[in-house]
Amino acid sequence: MAIKMAVPNKGRLNERAVELLLKSGIDLGEDWGRKLYVTAKDQNIEIMFIRAQDIPAFIATGAIDIGITGEDLAAESGYKIKKLMDLEFGACRLSVAAPESSGIKNIDDIPNGAKVATSFPNLTKKFFKSKGKEISVIEISGAAEIMPYLGISDLIVDLVASGSTLKMNRLAEISKIMDSQAAIYSSDAALKKNGAEIDDVVASIKSVMTAEDRKYLMADVPKSKLEQVEKLLPGIGGPTVLNIAGNDKMVAVHVVVRSRDVYKAVNDLKRLGAKGILTLSIERLVE
Ligand code: AMP
Repeated sequence: MAIKMAVPNKGRLNERAVELLLKSGIDLGEDWGRKLYVTAKDQNIEIMFIRAQDIPAFIATGAIDIGITGEDLAAESGYKIKKLMDLEFGACRLSVAAPESSGIKNIDDIPNGAKVATSFPNLTKKFFKSKGKEISVIEISGAAEIMPYLGISDLIVDLVASGSTLKMNRLAEISKIMDSQAAIYSSDAALKKNGAEIDDVVASIKSVMTAEDRKYLMADVPKSKLEQVEKLLPGIGGPTVLNIAGNDKMVAVHVVVRSRDVYKAVNDLKRLGAKGILTLSIERLVE
């Protein structure tokens, strides 16, 4: 039976989540953008496009086996779901912010009874309770930044990435509640039933993320410098060294290097007399 996977249907997490699936070789077909779900036949996976905030509930109830959503949404849902892997995108933090003009600089300055507008009522209540503050939560579904301006609340709890939206609305961030990024989630029940299939999806996505951070480097290097080159480019278990037909002075070296090391590697190789240096993108890398 196919496993069911949920992907955010729109919003900030949609584009990269879909990109990771496509790069993993999960075939979404031609017109996936217009469908609520597609079946990747060759991989035996049904992909459902669901609102990011609904995905934790779908996982917890067993309606789907695995899903991509934000850590903030998983925490706010309160459902007992299992994080399998961080996806290193959608980075933001859930923070308390107050109008710059309020004079509130930290949590201690907040008077009891303050009104806090947020679309994260559960995390907000929990946070203020842990600080021993009695506040009242005004639950809203978006545009928290405008609430103090309208006199609806004294403070807000909202997601912040760069902080520029807060600044634009003359709000100051006074305390962080949690960091968040996109992640892959599942449940104990799904893992028990479809653990191998779920592992395959996670491993595929991981291989894409690893590959994105690496380059395949090839160069012809003088045999006499091979030892120095090997020290320079340890690769995954050492570089591959190949003979070049008709040339007994040079060998071809193939190695996987971190993208950030390519600049130095190419220059070092040049200095050692390497020729025909080239780098290629890697689609997937299973270490
Ligand atoms: P959506 O409402 O569907 O666009 O998705 C919102 C989710 O994107 C949040 O719950 C976070 O997990 C993530 N996210 C990342 N950066 C931000 C940001 N600056 N503001 C709001 N959400 C963000």
